[in-house]
Amino acid sequence: MSHTAVERGDLLGLDGLPADQLLSLLDQAEQFLPVAFREKPPLDLLAGGLVANLFFEDSTRTRCSFTVAALRLGADTVDLTGSGSSLSKGETLLDTALNVEAMGVDALVVRSPASGSPAMIARAVNIPVINAGDGRHEHPTQALLDIFTLRRRWEGEISGKTVAIVGDIGHSRVARSNAFGLTTLGADVVLVGPPALVPESLEAIGLGPGRVAVSHDLDSVLGDVDAVMMLRIQLERQANGGAIPPDDYRSCYGLTVDRARRLRPEVPVMHPGPMNRGVEIDSEVADDKARSVILRQVTQGVALRMAVLDRAIGHRPWALDDE
Ligand code: ASP
Repeated sequence: MSHTAVERGDLLGLDGLPADQLLSLLDQAEQFLPVAFREKPPLDLLAGGLVANLFFEDSTRTRCSFTVAALRLGADTVDLTGSGSSLSKGETLLDTALNVEAMGVDALVVRSPASGSPAMIARAVNIPVINAGDGRHEHPTQALLDIFTLRRRWEGEISGKTVAIVGDIGHSRVARSNAFGLTTLGADVVLVGPPALVPESLEAIGLGPGRVAVSHDLDSVLGDVDAVMMLRIQLERQANGGAIPPDDYRSCYGLTVDRARRLRPEVPVMHPGPMNRGVEIDSEVADDKARSVILRQVTQGVALRMAVLDRAIGHRPWALDDE
């Protein structure tokens, strides 16, 4: 059994997370949505809980979103980042995590440039570990919030839909986690981008019942898909600093205004951020309120992360009603 399925409430990846667990997180996120949309007041379900964000790689949305999610459930948070920590003095990631655990926190949310480090930490600690993005491996909460956004847009239906994920797939943990989650729920995924960034071998990552296909021709897939997810080129994970000049990339793989016109009117455009406007997506497309769900992904991501934190630590003794 993979670590994703451990009872403790870890969430290390979507590779191997069964459909029923995946769906129950989406259902729970649905319950929390009015709080995330601020239509209802914050909850105290996790009052007394303490969530540690250990972020050893830069983040805007994910770290802030986990903090907001914890606060909306009544938990407190403590933040540690790579640059201000003793990692810069040579302390290992594992020792850092063990020390933070020893302070009595209830869960660790871990981001690291090294693939597999949240899993390594999870094996050593006795509290739930949530992967907030590890190298090019997985970013499970991003994919869950993407799937949550799609399920809401499609009024519940995921099976049978086709999602195009466009960009630097080979270096993208977002693409991998989405491919795992979407195919587990019966959607098909088309991975689109230049051959150097999207090798044919990626077709094998589909878990079924949905399938994964690879295409190097964005124009040929646009008319047939139910959603488009644009990704940036992950320059920080490429030894050669990205061989394709931005203008060339945009003309072949950017979601320009012209290309967006070829999508069916109801097809949503997604992006996990950070966006490189004018490279993988034109500003007019990113800001098109009828089509772009990019900011909705962010809001719905808070509800999704509330569900993930509740699953991880909602059962702790202080969270039980002792009336
Ligand atoms: N924010 C996402 C991640 O951390 C996507 C990206 O950085 O391009 O993987």
